[in-house]
Amino acid sequence: MKKASTPNSKPTQDSANFLKQIIEKDLETKKVTGPIVTRFPPEPNGYLHLGHAKSICLNFGLAADFNGRCHLRFDDTNPETEDVEYVESIKDDVRWLGADWKDHLYFASDYFQQLYDWAEYLIQENKAYVCSLKEEQLREYRGDFMKPGQDSPFRTRSVEENLDLFRRMKAGEFAEGEHVLRAKIDMKSPNMNMRDPLLYRIRKVRHHRTGDAWCIYPMYDYAHPLSDAIEHVTHSICTLEFQDHRPFYDWCIENLPVPAKPKQYEFARMNMTYLVMSKRKLLQLVKEGLVMGWDDPRMPTISGMRRRGYTPECLQLFAKRIGVAKAESLIDFEILEGCVRDTLDEVSHRAMAVLNPIKVVIDNLPENHREEIQTARHPKKPELEKRILPFTKEVYIDAADFMENPPSDFFRLAPGKEVRLRNAYVIKCKEVVKDAAGNIEKLICDYDVATLGGKPTQDGRKVKGIVHWVSATECIEAEVRLFDRLFSVADPDIVSEGKDFKSNLNPNSLKVITKAKLELGLRDASQNIRYQFERVGYFALDSVDSKPNNIIFNQVVELATGH
Ligand code: ATP
Ligand code: MG
Repeated sequence: MKKASTPNSKPTQDSANFLKQIIEKDLETKKVTGPIVTRFPPEPNGYLHLGHAKSICLNFGLAADFNGRCHLRFDDTNPETEDVEYVESIKDDVRWLGADWKDHLYFASDYFQQLYDWAEYLIQENKAYVCSLKEEQLREYRGDFMKPGQDSPFRTRSVEENLDLFRRMKAGEFAEGEHVLRAKIDMKSPNMNMRDPLLYRIRKVRHHRTGDAWCIYPMYDYAHPLSDAIEHVTHSICTLEFQDHRPFYDWCIENLPVPAKPKQYEFARMNMTYLVMSKRKLLQLVKEGLVMGWDDPRMPTISGMRRRGYTPECLQLFAKRIGVAKAESLIDFEILEGCVRDTLDEVSHRAMAVLNPIKVVIDNLPENHREEIQTARHPKKPELEKRILPFTKEVYIDAADFMENPPSDFFRLAPGKEVRLRNAYVIKCKEVVKDAAGNIEKLICDYDVATLGGKPTQDGRKVKGIVHWVSATECIEAEVRLFDRLFSVADPDIVSEGKDFKSNLNPNSLKVITKAKLELGLRDASQNIRYQFERVGYFALDSVDSKPNNIIFNQVVELATGH
């Protein structure tokens, strides 16, 4: 059987992408002569989300387009919040997306010694100094957008004193917050990032890779450009909020004897309606038990979307469709769902599942009638082995496909009316049987033997409606999880006073159907296959909870409206 996803397909970028044009020009003008090198630099402090997926497709896609390479680099300069659990999940997610870093897996922490040596170099060049202002004073001296900064009284320390203090910082002689190392640039700069930014701070925290080897850690803004340079990255692509950091990025590259001169380019961060996309907020949902975990199928995490049943191709198509922009973009959740549908339609096996069953008894069939109806697994893939649908005296249809007192435009089953059972026969409802409480117990119908598999009625009667069904005696029972949006408003960050984004969680985002009736063949459903439950939506086995004796399907996405 064919797999629904091909994990080795590569992300690519289309030519409308402005970054692609920059690279083309850089090659044309010989500004870059070697291979094109990009990188995806996650901080291992949470699970990857849709925004990261876009960045992965972008960086690995550009590298592939230019026959270059893309590095996976963990920006692990912040030991407090980082963890190996995150490192492993990130690797797993990147690989799943089809991105291949080959042997270019790096960690900023591998460069700690080099970064330290370069810090000493800056001190020796009189371009960095140890500052002993307390945190609050540091902020005060920095000024703000209106007010220029003020030189620190420690700015004039001699090179010798700076070197001595910095070495002692490294040796662990001082407490956290006692000293920092700062670049000596310009406290009057209109760009706050150039007002003697911090290079190192003391943190007596164990690092998940370097252990207790260090008690001073480089700042992200210092470590990042230098890591890029060490790896000979040519195009360092980041999100727009780093635009104002670019002058300092360039300052680091210009003022240190680095082996390469990477350039930073910015594109707009992606946000999506009805979701939050910050790791900090996602972590809150997980920690407070408001979702099943990082991989909750409603979460915008890659692991959540995987568990839900999205394939890598869904996210690749999405990244391609939204492209890259220079301006902030808020993407409609429906764009993502459209990509999922378009991707899954081509690969999903068709099946029938009745989520809210009512029983239909076919009166004019003998008690133990059983015939096997063969039908296609996919309308455009005749090469696939046929499905077998047992047709028996008792079947289930969905309660929504029957109405006792239907309006004139209702074309499904009603007393005295006919409907076609998909792939099978036309049936006519003769009688509605109710229990003492007045609930419908079953529908008594007759079937028309001449109408198998879509054949017209012999007397030319028109039967408009087609409904899905399963045999009541030969089906499986399964749990089906239906998902709605995680938040009930388009922008969860807009909240009333005293509330936070969590107050906008959609209380009905998960609906569990415990006893759905599924066509018998789904007994052998596979994690690798996506299913279209006809007339219902796309579904996939829950990769965590589904077991052969307790089958659980997730709704990946509904069918487009109009079905
Ligand atoms: P968050 O704000 O969710 O914590 P982050 O930017 O801090 O995200 P990192 O691990 O530092 O997360 O990001 C790794 C890479 O992914 C960076 O290059 C960043 O620019 C990119 N990235 C993160 N979020 C988005 C997003 N919403 N859209 C596009 N790219 C993103
Ligand atoms: Mg970050």
